Formats: sequence, structure tokens, C-alpha cells
Amino acid sequence: MIVVLQKDVTEDAKQRLRAELYQKGCVVREMDSAGQTVIAALGRGDLDPKQVAAMEGVAEVVPMEGKFKLVGRQWHPQDSQVQVGPITIGGQRIALIAGPCAIESLAQALTTAREVKRYGAVIFRGGAFKPRTSPYSFQGLEEEGLKILAQVRRETGMPVVTEITSINQAELMKEYVDMIQVGARNMQNFELLKCVGRLGKPVLLKRGLASTIEEWLMSAEYILAEGNDQVVLCERGIRTYEPYTRNTLDLSAIPVLRKLTHLPVVVDPSHATGLREKVAPMARAAVAAGADGLMVEVHCDPDKALSDGPQSLYPEQFGQLARDIYVIAPVVGKQLDFEYLEKAARPRPSAGAQPAVAAYLGEPGSFSHIATCQYLGGDGLLASRPSFRAIFEAVANGKAQVGVIPLENTLTGSIHENYDLLLEYDLKIVGELYLRIIHHLIAAPGTRLEEIRRVWSSEAAMQQCRAFLDRYPSWELSTVNATTSAVRRLREEPGPGWAAIGSREAAQSHGMALIAEGIETNPRNFTRFVIIGKQSVTDRPKQKSSIVFSTVHRPGALFEVMKIFADNHINLLKLESRPIHGQPWQYMFYADIEADAHAPEFREPLENITRKTDYLKILGSY
Ligand code: PEP
Ligand code: MN
Repeated sequence: MIVVLQKDVTEDAKQRLRAELYQKGCVVREMDSAGQTVIAALGRGDLDPKQVAAMEGVAEVVPMEGKFKLVGRQWHPQDSQVQVGPITIGGQRIALIAGPCAIESLAQALTTAREVKRYGAVIFRGGAFKPRTSPYSFQGLEEEGLKILAQVRRETGMPVVTEITSINQAELMKEYVDMIQVGARNMQNFELLKCVGRLGKPVLLKRGLASTIEEWLMSAEYILAEGNDQVVLCERGIRTYEPYTRNTLDLSAIPVLRKLTHLPVVVDPSHATGLREKVAPMARAAVAAGADGLMVEVHCDPDKALSDGPQSLYPEQFGQLARDIYVIAPVVGKQLDFEYLEKAARPRPSAGAQPAVAAYLGEPGSFSHIATCQYLGGDGLLASRPSFRAIFEAVANGKAQVGVIPLENTLTGSIHENYDLLLEYDLKIVGELYLRIIHHLIAAPGTRLEEIRRVWSSEAAMQQCRAFLDRYPSWELSTVNATTSAVRRLREEPGPGWAAIGSREAAQSHGMALIAEGIETNPRNFTRFVIIGKQSVTDRPKQKSSIVFSTVHRPGALFEVMKIFADNHINLLKLESRPIHGQPWQYMFYADIEADAHAPEFREPLENITRKTDYLKILGSY
């Protein structure tokens, strides 16, 4: 049962209640839910709810329904996030876990780790105790392997995950690794589950070779019942009658789990398929199906691997896969952040210091707000600003460390005001992010489509939903300055038959319902946001730069600059001109190029460009 405590319950009363439930033989777990303490009392079906309701400090007793208790959504409605060193699994960032099947040597582990890190992995995997089908196969380096993993963490900053195969390894695991994997073969080794439940380290729980989702979740329940709620589920394929792949990847487990549990879900396409060429397609599909991350076997020399070579990717293949995931993730509302590890591994602000502040336009539920949340991934504070200029001001005067501004939309084009502000302020573009813009028709819960008479939204949102709105010519359309103001109006000044167009998040934050989902005319509706700051937060080589320049007024002037790009094999991604204020018919050119403008190779082309232009500014490399 779930025991909701009174808001003003004293600490003493709470402890007495916990002790009493414990004495009655219950497993007792406590959680804070919107400022109120709730206690799960489990394991005693015969406990009388009336008796518990009468205890001191109790506000309400709610029976727990279904088999799943602590892993279930009734106990924990929100998605949970699992912290592995500096990395969070769950939420809006895709976590890439990569590394060899087994640790074979320091050189093999370090070489592979550096490669996968370079391509976007944030957690390193590698087995030290290998559960092999044959006793004559390589069994792993055991403690030596764990030491190598700890060294990889020291040298790369990546937290490490490895498999535990016996409770005897518990102390070693505690000493050397950041996350403990329970392998498919041990999913129902209940003593092992209880052991990792008590270890106080995050757990990656793989699905058993022939286990149902229910059995799998009950295994997770064992870990949570011991007091460890840091559990990530890993789908790794199940045994079916199909011999073309090593196992059959059950992708439908992802949406099934989403409904049943709050725990994050990652997918291991390597053991699921057993074949290198099948790994990337299934990994892409897993992200499209909503996985929070991937665990992929990568080896620096797979042909010589001591285990699972045929399913291990070459590092470059992993790199290509990461690039695909970078593109796919925004379609399902997530991001792959290639700088995540570096950002996460930076020292936290000391106690008492303010965490980083990110300024954005509008209010919670605005697309800028969603983009900022995705960029920060849960770290840092958000500061709303009323205009784009106010965002630039906040960053320039140090009130915010970064600002998040939209620069262009795939359907409606550039946001010119921000181009002009980039020129005016001495700030840098330090990152970018693509957000898919999905619009919904939003109204008070219970409203039916037939009842709608008037729709509020921003001009841009109306334009983007034109085809849908044209189907209802009798609706009165009223524009306001932002989609979030439209949704807020529904709650603050409701009118009969009123609806708004906006994001799912805006609807949620105002307690409104989605009446029609995905009503934008073109689903390829993405906005590119850039992150502005005083300086870049990471040192990694940058792939892209934005520059702005003007040329002298003579034939071929622009061509001469373009020729420098061509001669140096620099790919031009975008070129746009903007009028120069106060100089009629003169233009600034904004260019995005595929190059790191601060790299030594770029010095010479840059000098040449400087000679051919009368103004040049590097807006940033990222
Ligand atoms: C592994 O991850 O190396 C492994 C042995 O996986 P599974 O338990 O899924 O077979
Ligand atoms: Mn393996």
C-alpha cells in the first residue's frame, strides 16, 4: 500500500510509523512527492488499510495495484533518471555506452575507450568476469580487468560498467566500477539481485535470454526492494526460433516498459543480433522507438577479439552510428550531445556557488524552453527573458552563462533579429541544437473538437498548422505573441469553445489536454537553436563555424571569398545576406562552414579571407 503522510507530520511521528510498519513485516520505502512524504509499505497483503490510516501522521492510504510495486508508475509516475558518475541515463539525452565485450589488455581497453569517446560514447563498457557458454572460452581478466577499467575511467573521464557474475565479486565491484551489470544469464539469480540492491551503485539489468517482461520487471523489483532505485533496464534480445540472428531484438519491449515502469530503458543491439552489419539498423530503430540509450560492443581490432568479435563494431562504424543517432534523436524529442561527457565532467561549482544559468525566451512550455532543457539536460538553472535582446544582455553582463536562441526554422526560414544581435554583441556561438517543432490543438480537459469556436496562438504556429486550420473555416483565429501565452490564456481567462495551438509541455504545465496531436502541416518542422556564451565550454575540435563578413563593392568580390573556401575544400553549409543598418543596399554575409575556424589548418584561409573582405567576424566554432 502507499501511505501518504500529513504535510505537517513531525520527523518523530514519521520514524515511529516507519518502525511500526517494519515491525509488522513490511518492506518500507519513502519518497518525497511534491513536498509531501509518501511511504510504500510492501509485502504484507493482510495488513488492514483502515488500521494504517488511523496511525499518527497518516493522511491517506492508497492500495497498490498490480504486480509491480516500486518499479511501477503508480508509485513513481515520472520517468526516473539514473546517475552513473557524471552521466544521467533517462531524460532527454541519449546515453551511448560502448566498449569491447571483454577487457583483454590495457592497450586494447584504452585504445577502444579513446575511440568511442571521440565518437560520442559517455560510458565505457567491458567485461572482466565473462559468463561464457563454454568453460574453455576466454573467461575474462577478472580483478586485473577491473583495474584496467578503473584506469580507463581515470584517463578518459568516462564512468565504467562491467558485469558481476557472483556475489563474491561485490567488494571488487564497489571498489573499481561506476555501474554494475547483471547479465542475461543471471537476471533471475535472486541472491545476486539482492546483493546489487544493497551495493549502492547503479545497476544495468539485462533481460534474460528467455524471460518475459513481467519476470524482468520483477527482477528489477528485487533490486529496488533492497533500497536501490538506480536501475536501468537493458533489452538485449530474446531467444526465439529464428536462427538468422543470435537473438531476436524485442523492440516492442520499449513502449511496453514505458507504460509499466518509470525506469530508463537502453538497448543492446550487439548481443541482440550477434552480427556486426545488423547492429546499426537495430540501434537506430531502438532510438526511434524511444530508448534512453544504447549499449554497443566496439573493439579496436574486432577480428582479433577474444569474445564476440563478429558482433563488435569497428570504431569508425560506431562513429557513423552516433552521427545517425544525432539526426534521429530530435525526431523523437531527444538529443545526442557530442559534448555531454566534457560538459558533465567539468568540476561542479563549489558549494554555495550559483549553478550555471541559461537564459531563454518565453516561459515554461515554449519551444525555447524545451530546447534549453534539452541543452542543459537537467543541469543548471533556467532564466526566462522577455526578448531576444534581453537574452544577449543577460549573457553579456554575466547574469547568465549561456543563452539559447532560435536562428532558423526549416519551414519559415531565418530569425533575422538574432542574426543582427549576433553581430551587435561580442558573444560567441558555442553550440547548436535541432528541435522538432510539434504542434497540438490544446483545450480544457473534456473539450471535444466539435465544441471548438476560437483558436489562440502565435502567427508562426498558425502558419505552420494552416492545412489543419483550413479544415475548420468557421473557427475564429486570434493571434498572440507566443504559443505559451495562448495556452496560459485558456487557464487564466477561459472562454467557451476556446482552444490554443502549442507544445505538449505547454499543455502539461497549464493542466490542459491535447485535443488533436501533431497538427503541423509539414512534420519536417525543425528549429535550429544556437547556444551563445562568452566562451566555449569544451576544448574538443569543432566541426562547424559561423562567420559574418562584408566585401568591397566590386565585381567578383563575393566570388573571391567563396573561391578560398573551394580551394581549401571547406564545405559551405549556409550563406545568407542581411542589409547593413544605415548603409542602404550594402550587405553582410552570414556563412556557416564545415571547419573549425580556430584550428591551425584554417589560419591561412582565414588570412586570405581577411584580405578579401572589409569586415570579418567569427561568430563561433562548435
Ligand atoms: C555482455 O554484455 O557482454 C553480455 C554477456 O551480455 P548478455 O548478458 O546480454 O549476454
Ligand atoms: Mn559480449
